[in-house]
Amino acid sequence: MVKGLSDSGVLFQAIAKGSEALAHGSGWPENVEALLAELGMATGINRVWILQNVEVNEDSLVHDYVAEWVSSPGYSLKDKTSLRMFRVDAGNWEYWNLIESRKRGEHQSIIVGDMPECWLRSFLQGQDVKSFLTVPIIVDGEWWGVLGFNDCEREYRWSDDEIAILRTAVCPLSNAILRSRLHAHARQFAILQRITDSLTWEYSLVRNRIWLGGHSVDTGFASTGKKRSPVRTLLQMFHPNDRRPFLQALQDYIKDESGTFRYDIRVRRNKDWIWTEVIGTLERDESGAPVLLSGIALDIRRRKRDEILLAQQARLDPLTGVANRRTFDRLLEHHMLRAEETGADLSLLFIDFDKFKHINDIWGHGVGDMALKKFVNICSDCLRTEDVLARIGGEEFATILPGATSEAAVRVGERIRLAVEELNLLLEAGAISFTISIGCITKTKAHESADDLLLAADKALYRAKRGGRNQLVKGG
Ligand code: GH3
Ligand code: MG
Ligand code: MG
Repeated sequence: MVKGLSDSGVLFQAIAKGSEALAHGSGWPENVEALLAELGMATGINRVWILQNVEVNEDSLVHDYVAEWVSSPGYSLKDKTSLRMFRVDAGNWEYWNLIESRKRGEHQSIIVGDMPECWLRSFLQGQDVKSFLTVPIIVDGEWWGVLGFNDCEREYRWSDDEIAILRTAVCPLSNAILRSRLHAHARQFAILQRITDSLTWEYSLVRNRIWLGGHSVDTGFASTGKKRSPVRTLLQMFHPNDRRPFLQALQDYIKDESGTFRYDIRVRRNKDWIWTEVIGTLERDESGAPVLLSGIALDIRRRKRDEILLAQQARLDPLTGVANRRTFDRLLEHHMLRAEETGADLSLLFIDFDKFKHINDIWGHGVGDMALKKFVNICSDCLRTEDVLARIGGEEFATILPGATSEAAVRVGERIRLAVEELNLLLEAGAISFTISIGCITKTKAHESADDLLLAADKALYRAKRGGRNQLVKGG
């Protein structure tokens, strides 16, 4: 039993009712006046109020009078606007002492008449305050503001028990403030996720649990009764080709964590594979053991499409879509090496259009381009998937025929040459036809490098031109 304004039961009841009001809906700041009213009525005090810190510095403070309950309208604070965004600095020594004390988490129970002459005493007397109690509000470990009780009728000295109970009234208040802060964060976060098309993730290595977007990964254990690790469950969502390299990259990162972990993987969404960039950082405990990996997963479909397109552009000839010179050189080196290692056959065809200048001159460049594309179609029909067709110059093409003997290469070359000869390009102005010359070479021990092979093929092609064009010449 508390001796004084109210008994402890009434006070506890008031705090309980006020807390309930704060627990409903958005709580802070909408329902805070219910708590203030309960406290005011239970203590029989004239005014209960809240000052919120807006800016706290070493030698100045800005605070805001954000809530007030009064037992009757006459007790309402006069000239409230003077306390809105109200600035105090260290020069206001009496007030500043209070602020320093509140920063330390202390309460103040003061009879105004006992105060020395100072600004604060005059201010309080101007507001008819005879005594007051303030309790600091601490939110998430930081001094957030003050809950105040003003008695305008009596000089009241609060008992230790009353103060102890009223200090607990601050707990539901700080919980409600914290909850509204979390809601605000969640709202901002949702905006961020929507704009960036991203998802947050966390992997606790200690608890072996994974959260995606704040939800624990469902391992299917409840329905199947089979134990399956969340990592395995998650991996099922990744493209089969990406799983092993992803895990390897993650393990490497955990081993010698440097900077941020970044990895591109394909993740299944309905029936599609979505290119996703996984970005994360690692937290370790005091002993250096890894405990938590967390980060975001970004939808990078658009970037990936651009990357793939750029890579293709670097590899392919833009007009015909076949390999370009650079790709041809790289692939020829590769097939040369393989042929050296395995002793398998390797043949090349060097192809040049006959009198192509005429086609351009007579029919125009557009028709010339069309002929080049038609030629590529013909080749596609005659070549196997493992063969390589490349445009190595203006109207010069080459094919790599891995595993093809000299006879097989001649057969393929002749088939292409004949198909081109028989082709008629139908134009409005009439039908045109064209021919090609081919140099054919099959690798022997004498061809030690790709250049040797290219030179031999070029010589054979030259002979085909000299021999009257529209023919294939086998080189040695
Ligand atoms: P030859 O039988 O001796 O090979 O005679 P040619 O006229 O084909 O002579 P050459 O191979 O030296 O000339 C190639 C011509 O191909 C020159 C150029 O006008 C044309 N050409 C090169 N690249 C392109 C292209 O991308 N499109 C078109 N339409 N023509 C091209
Ligand atoms: Mg040429
Ligand atoms: Mg030519």
